[in-house]
Amino acid sequence: MNDLSSAPPPPLPTDARTQLAQHLARAGSLRSRFPAEALALCEQAEVLARALDSQGDLARALLRAGQCLSALAVAPAGGTRQQHQQAAHERLGQAMELFVGLEDRHGEAEAANSLGNLHATCGAHAQALPLYHRSLAVRRDLGDRIGEAGVLNNIGLLLRDTAQFADALACLFASLELAEDLNDERATAHALASIGTVLAELGETGRATEFHLRALAVLEQWPDPALEASARTGLGRLLARTGHPEEALSHLERALAVAHRSGRIDDLASALHALGQAHQGLAQPQRAEWLLHEALAAARRGGQPLAEAEVLLSLGELRGRQGDSSDARPLLLQALAGAERLQADHLAGRVHRALSRWHEQQREFEPALRHHQAFHDCLQRVQGQAVQRRLRTLLSGSELKVVHRDAEHQRRRGDALAEALDIARASDRHKDELVRALRHQAELLRQLAREDGLTGVANRRWLDSMLMRERERARRHGHPLAVAMIDLDHFKSINDRCSHHVGDEVLRRIGRLLLQTCRQGDLVGRYGGEEFLVVLVETPLAAARGVCEKLRRLVAAMDVEGLHPTLNRVTVSIGVAGDAADPVAEDLVQAADRELYRAKREGRNRVCG
Ligand code: GH3
Ligand code: MG
Ligand code: MG
Repeated sequence: MNDLSSAPPPPLPTDARTQLAQHLARAGSLRSRFPAEALALCEQAEVLARALDSQGDLARALLRAGQCLSALAVAPAGGTRQQHQQAAHERLGQAMELFVGLEDRHGEAEAANSLGNLHATCGAHAQALPLYHRSLAVRRDLGDRIGEAGVLNNIGLLLRDTAQFADALACLFASLELAEDLNDERATAHALASIGTVLAELGETGRATEFHLRALAVLEQWPDPALEASARTGLGRLLARTGHPEEALSHLERALAVAHRSGRIDDLASALHALGQAHQGLAQPQRAEWLLHEALAAARRGGQPLAEAEVLLSLGELRGRQGDSSDARPLLLQALAGAERLQADHLAGRVHRALSRWHEQQREFEPALRHHQAFHDCLQRVQGQAVQRRLRTLLSGSELKVVHRDAEHQRRRGDALAEALDIARASDRHKDELVRALRHQAELLRQLAREDGLTGVANRRWLDSMLMRERERARRHGHPLAVAMIDLDHFKSINDRCSHHVGDEVLRRIGRLLLQTCRQGDLVGRYGGEEFLVVLVETPLAAARGVCEKLRRLVAAMDVEGLHPTLNRVTVSIGVAGDAADPVAEDLVQAADRELYRAKREGRNRVCG
């Protein structure tokens, strides 16, 4: 922007408000995949918001811009990385201040979380933690449970990076429980993968593998490239460590491909690092060395000092094992300096251990002993007695909780699935196997719990929770969301005239027709007796009206003549509501219901809204 004070302000377009809302909505949906394009839209939105003097929109534009800049800072963009970080920092700080002034607590929580993420990726853990806690407190206050699960996951990862594994696990299991309760697959996958990484750090290979696999299974339905790359890298590392090199390589190559596609340099660095280690395990030192150098370059380009120190350690260890090992020491000393600068005791300990071994190889016993001592000091700091005790209690506690919870669930339902538990108990299988069987059964139960018994569409409970989730998503990403309430016309008289049995069949056929006609991502459910609700995701109101009109026509044209001699046609009335800017502000279901009643009043077999 140039100096605006000397030039007259540009004329404001007449539809400035609409443009502003459109820019924000579009930026929201583009930001994760195309942050540069989304940033340009945010900047236009910022100009419009200032011209219109709309503080709320300005705060939202700054927040989105800050998030885009944070995303750009982890993409390989050379010298601009630090500028992006700086700019992101400014925008997010301004956005937060504005949200606080406007008492927009959702905005405040999101800005605090995004600012926390920015600090965390720069390795500034001490600054990130209070921001996350602030976001957590606000989200708890607001009853925003999806948001709460997200921040808990972020805190868990931060605690993992600072080797506070017990607290990390407590946060991550809490995040998982929330995500599962809310049936939020994305948050579930995040929590599962994060728990996997902590368990891996603790040497719990079997459990860590299981959690990563569960995360990847969820991701098949809900793709998320960043998460897929890190879950595959984590899994690849574990498989390499447990003697499955072929499988490890396949996951790691895929992780690398995903990271290349998404352009996230942090994912790239860790996939390259893990691949290097896997090749080292396969006795291919040259390939390993090349990969580790690539990883080092990526970590440096991405400004990730911790990753850089970790790769230096791997390189030092690799050189130490080769014939001429004299250049291992400078690499290890560089790694040590990095770890100490970051106060990463965990990593520093590992470097000291490597240095101790190296000196021992050179038959330099005095420095070997010194490093060995330092290794133990670090270890003690990281794994104090109290931490270990807490960790053990926590690990067995949370696993048991899962077993108890699932078992309870099944008992209450009193169906045949409970028997499986008893059989499993009777045969005294291994606990892990029991947990797995229970989880599988819990998944079956969950499926049953989602469906309406008569029609096979979603039931009311599932509808409610999915609707809450879609609203939250729409609000976050600025997507439009529409809801259609569909009620059969004069259904009571169909029952009376043709029997309940015929009425039921009509309901089943309509359920099928709705499922076949709506898009995969939309949600069709039975809201009440003869009322269906359709949630149309990422659909503006005008398009939703079109879908409803099509549904209305298809129902009226449905062939029902074979069901009963007096039944020649079934019709529905539909009320539709949608709101592009902020679906939380208005209760969409209530609005759709009001429109439905209007459709009834105006003569039925029509769409209103
Ligand atoms: P309107 O056009 O005003 O909606 O009239 P209506 O007769 O459809 O509405 P009303 O609410 O008076 O009646 C709804 C009927 O739906 C009454 C109830 O017996 C019937 N119904 C509700 N659930 C079921 C079901 O599961 N099966 C069958 N066969 N009928 C049901
Ligand atoms: Mg009704
Ligand atoms: Mg009715």
